[in-house]
Amino acid sequence: MLQIHQFPCLSDNYGYLIHDPASGETACIDTPDADEYLRQAAAKGWTITQIWNTHWHPDHAGGNAAIKEATGCVIVAPAEVERISAIDRIVVQGDTVSLGGLTAQVIDVSGHTNGHIAYYLPEAGTAFVGDSVFALGCGRMFEGTPDQFWASLQRIKGLPAETMLYCAHEYTASNAKFAVHADPDNAALAAYASEIADKRSQGEWTVPMPLSRELVTNPFLRADDPAIQARWGAATPEEAFAALRAAKDSF
Ligand code: ZN
Ligand code: FE
Repeated sequence: MLQIHQFPCLSDNYGYLIHDPASGETACIDTPDADEYLRQAAAKGWTITQIWNTHWHPDHAGGNAAIKEATGCVIVAPAEVERISAIDRIVVQGDTVSLGGLTAQVIDVSGHTNGHIAYYLPEAGTAFVGDSVFALGCGRMFEGTPDQFWASLQRIKGLPAETMLYCAHEYTASNAKFAVHADPDNAALAAYASEIADKRSQGEWTVPMPLSRELVTNPFLRADDPAIQARWGAATPEEAFAALRAAKDSF
């Protein structure tokens, strides 16, 4: 049974250590802060054996070298991570990665960067999605195209609705403001958005989040919804996604 240890690090990242008690294996999901990851693993009594990167950005792979140096762990990553780190195993869409007896499927969720991947663990009902989807939002489109990003979001939407999404940043409060602007007549969104500020002021985390809720509240996942397309003057999901992403960038 998968154990997940979540902790805030850097200014607004979440760090994740995942552990398989049967085999004793532990993987870092990304490496925003090597010292913090090593401290957190030691506090849990877990020995880091792997790193699974989602994309090449320094707040995701910047701690690779130091953690490998300290633990001798194996680095699993998309090829783009070679921009800032050595990799032991390059993975692409359709590959599987193992943590002891647990299996993760590699999903292409490119758009934020060109090689961005997610790790989906079906037995745990869990997906680590990096900076592709956030609660009520999605990553900035630094390298990809709207068509590519929309296709990636379709792959996330295709996971079982009960899947818990573990994204890499606590951006929900600011995402909620834009989401309500993007989709003002959405009652489910309005209800959820109204809880966020309270939660955050009490120090609560809004991550992970169930895919089922994102499907009805996240405007970027709902770019195929007729109401969103009408509001944003779009004839296709790709056009609606492009309009939403551009508007969010300057919101
Ligand atoms: Zn990023
Ligand atoms: Fe990031």
